[in-house]
Amino acid sequence: MLSNSLIELDRAHLVHPVASWQGHEARGVRLLQSAKGATVTDAEGRELIDGFAGLWCVNAGYGHESIVEAAAEQMRRLPYATGYFDLGAEAPIRLAAALAERAPGDLNHIYFALGGSDSVDSTIRFVRYYWHAKGQPGRDQFISVAQGYHGSTTMGAGLTALPSFHTGFGVPYEWQHKISSHYSYRNPVGDDPEAITAASVAELKAKIEEIGPERVAAFYVEPIQGSGGVLVPPPGWVKAMRQTCRDYGVLFVADEVITGFGRTGPLFACEDEGIVPDLMTTAKGLTSGYVPMGAVFMADHVYETIAEGAGAAAVGHGFTYSAHPVSAAVALEVLRLYEDGGLLENGRKMGARLMAGLQGLADHPLVGDVRGRGMLAAIEMVTDKAKKTPVPAELNAATRLFDRAWEQGLVIRAFANGIFGYAPPLCCTEAEIDAIVERTRKVLDLTL
Ligand code: PLP
Repeated sequence: MLSNSLIELDRAHLVHPVASWQGHEARGVRLLQSAKGATVTDAEGRELIDGFAGLWCVNAGYGHESIVEAAAEQMRRLPYATGYFDLGAEAPIRLAAALAERAPGDLNHIYFALGGSDSVDSTIRFVRYYWHAKGQPGRDQFISVAQGYHGSTTMGAGLTALPSFHTGFGVPYEWQHKISSHYSYRNPVGDDPEAITAASVAELKAKIEEIGPERVAAFYVEPIQGSGGVLVPPPGWVKAMRQTCRDYGVLFVADEVITGFGRTGPLFACEDEGIVPDLMTTAKGLTSGYVPMGAVFMADHVYETIAEGAGAAAVGHGFTYSAHPVSAAVALEVLRLYEDGGLLENGRKMGARLMAGLQGLADHPLVGDVRGRGMLAAIEMVTDKAKKTPVPAELNAATRLFDRAWEQGLVIRAFANGIFGYAPPLCCTEAEIDAIVERTRKVLDLTL
């Protein structure tokens, strides 16, 4: 039982990320105390299926002793070694090599960060450095996609296109520009995949021309938009955007912080479209959330241009905890579980089952759209299917939907606009996937 004093301590001292500081005061904290596989147990002893893998990160599932052992062994032997200057440790080197071997194309150079936000932030610095090294320092403008999320550092929040990450922070974002999302369910050009892709290509070209092609540094894209509401682009969309960037000499950065490490089926979602970005960001599933870590992948030409530009001077970017050996040891074991432990394969099977199950909810009067790929999915509620009328505010209260699901023994992400997001651990069993779908139906019935 969660003691009142703990709730009071939380209210008084812990600042929760991305939460209403006022609402949080009123509601109090919801505490988890343990977890195993895809099940989490709350402070009252209630068992819930974690349909969101923590924050779309615990891809391997909870309670893997071999991961705990890998961390403990590394901590005992060498808990810390800096990667600064020319120092290092074995685990990060082995991890970088293993990732380069599995990455699309020539993404052979890995910079380790602490999570997704600082991975994205690092790419902004690398991209700027790249263009300086190329003798084109005027390329300092960045383009990303509406409804996109790329973290909340001072620079990265500029690429993020969710209003609460900008409003009130007073940061100048003149260097960043947005094009519309592909959002197939509510796209003004309709739901024809080719028309959506053609419209996005035209908009990206127009945006580059408007800014001036010689000023555009990079275009950032999530292969599937996560925090914007799990928005899945039509097949070929990512490839077409990649080609457009190539045509203009603009760097293409794939943000795979959510989609990486088996979330959509393959190890990286770029593989779904057979594309090779110039840079790629990952985090979350890299260590399955057991410890923090992010990884920036750079193509040969990006790394070599920066290396040549810097010459003998140090490239002044890095953190004390970059390439942390404990995080690297964990990531190596997580990678082994994905591959030899069969988690990627199980995730692919369970992803197909999840999508089929959620499609089965399409007959529900409140379900307007079901979308997803692999173990990443969403349903969008409407009150009138023909008109796609968004649910009214009283049904739309994300916290209420979240609470209702919790009461049914299910953790989902309830987005503010009547969207339920799903990203269960790849270790889910068939029974757990079926329970996610059944419990969702109950939540929908209770919401009618
Ligand atoms: N990029 C994407 C696509 C994300 O979804 C997230 C987090 O959800 C981030 C970056 C930021 O990652 P982090 O929360 O680890 O800083």
